Amino acid sequence: MTTKKSLQTTLVHTGYKAPEGFAAFPSAIHHASTVVFKDVASMRSGQWKDKSGYTYGLHGTPTTFTLEARLAEIEDGKYCLLAPSGLAAIAMVDFALLKSGDDVLLPENVYNPNRELGRWLSQDFGVTARYYDPLIGAGIAALIQPNTRLIWTEAPGSVSMEVPDLPAICKAAHDRGVLVALDNTWSAGLALRGFDVGVDIIMQALTKYQSGGSDVLMGALITRDRQLNERLALAHMRLGMGVGADDAYLVLRGLASMKLRFEAHDAAARRVAAWLKGRPEIATVLHPAFEDCPGHAVWKRDFSGAGGLFSVLFDARYSERQTDRFVDALTLFKIGWSWGGANSLCVPYRIAAMRKDWPAGGQLVRFNIGLEDPADLIADIERAFAAL
Ligand SMILES: *Cc1c(COP(=O)(O)O)cnc(C)c1O
Repeated sequence: MTTKKSLQTTLVHTGYKAPEGFAAFPSAIHHASTVVFKDVASMRSGQWKDKSGYTYGLHGTPTTFTLEARLAEIEDGKYCLLAPSGLAAIAMVDFALLKSGDDVLLPENVYNPNRELGRWLSQDFGVTARYYDPLIGAGIAALIQPNTRLIWTEAPGSVSMEVPDLPAICKAAHDRGVLVALDNTWSAGLALRGFDVGVDIIMQALTKYQSGGSDVLMGALITRDRQLNERLALAHMRLGMGVGADDAYLVLRGLASMKLRFEAHDAAARRVAAWLKGRPEIATVLHPAFEDCPGHAVWKRDFSGAGGLFSVLFDARYSERQTDRFVDALTLFKIGWSWGGANSLCVPYRIAAMRKDWPAGGQLVRFNIGLEDPADLIADIERAFAAL
């Protein structure tokens, strides 16, 4: 009898087969552009589509196939395609599934480069990109048109942190034959099981928790449906979405510790967020595990944890100049994009300029809690509050 192992054990005990006589744990790094065929017949029958063999470095190596198989396993999917960044993976979905005359729906809180891509598709490619309230839930049915092909979701939005009702959105979409893609980067596929809530495509920015080292850019698309994977794989091939072997190895190396790191980020972030909630400088803590966060009840229902990323709204009496001074005064928190690495980060956002629907109020500042001792991070924030 085989019993399904826990995810943590699967992250350590991989299906990787080392070369005969060399039973080491790490996956081998294979570099290649050319892959040599044994004869013309095998060259002519070579298929980039089904991964039954190797045809060209751009279409996959044993290293990238190993990483793809492991990522599919983590998300409980069947197929996985790698891209050179998270944003490239997002673009691959749009180019695979949208054509001139089609319509795509994106949440108002969508990852900003995804919004920028939507703007480009609308301006130059004859696709309409429309935006919806991330808390719309089943109400999205009213926005779906006969030419709507794709709905992007993000859970939660990575700046304003609203948690969408994915089962309700997916049901409305599937009733009308529309596909749903989920940017599942915040939860790394650990705290939210994307296929359980009904999405068709899971996108991951492996740049974040999977790598964990602040040293790799990579993305992935995970699916369960063979035909859908083939549509994505065609775009993957046409756009030349190859990834470097050393980068793929770095992500493979990060996977064994990913869940433990994620849990450490989660615990520390909740501790810092709880402390911030008690401070008079802060009006609202936008962390899905806290009641003030829009969609908190959905988070409680659908998620098993949280990451290291959350935002706060400062009290409205503080101007942008004051909160900028606060961010500049932090010493352990560095100012920079991305997250999922060991170092804590802090970014102030001009969110009203990004979103038409954002209500007036205090300044939004986003924290990524790294792997430092949270007591030191709290002391850093407390010291920086004096700069307000
Ligand atoms: C970082 C990120 C991406 C893009 O990943 P890159 O590898 O930086 O291109 C996409 N979505 C979310 C939510 C992200 O945080």
